[in-house]
Amino acid sequence: MKPRPVLQHPNELLRVPALPVKEYGTAALRALVAEMVETMRRLNGIGLAATQLGIAQQIAIIELKDGPLVLINPTIHKPSRKLETDEEGCLSVSGIFGEVPRSASLTLKAKDIDGHAYEAKAQGLFARVIQHEVDHLHGKLFIDRCTKLTTGLEKARRLGLIT
Ligand code: ZN
Repeated sequence: MKPRPVLQHPNELLRVPALPVKEYGTAALRALVAEMVETMRRLNGIGLAATQLGIAQQIAIIELKDGPLVLINPTIHKPSRKLETDEEGCLSVSGIFGEVPRSASLTLKAKDIDGHAYEAKAQGLFARVIQHEVDHLHGKLFIDRCTKLTTGLEKARRLGLIT
């Protein structure tokens, strides 16, 4: 099957809140996650939400140093009141970067592809990407939270958000 393109802002499907996944470990779920990983790597991204492929299901992937980490039905707990501001970009918002304040740390609760629940404490870039991807699943984009637009090019390249 031909890989689906990553939807670009202002496509309205990016604004559709995703529904919880109910069936785990299925061939369809595995195929979708494999396609998401391939798409993310091809575009040198560090995260991708199913919403960005026009699929309104609560599935996201993140790949930093190790990975890919599969987040199904993810929720954020104990977000720190302390915020950190850093530049972000998005595969669905080409050519635009911006400074976005995010909680500096949080606890992620999610299921893996087989439906096993896991928890992860996150800080720094990992916490930021989790918040960015969970936002996608709620129909939100970083430009909704951005306090200042930047060129962001150097930073985005360093983080692998763009090539
Ligand atoms: Zn994004």
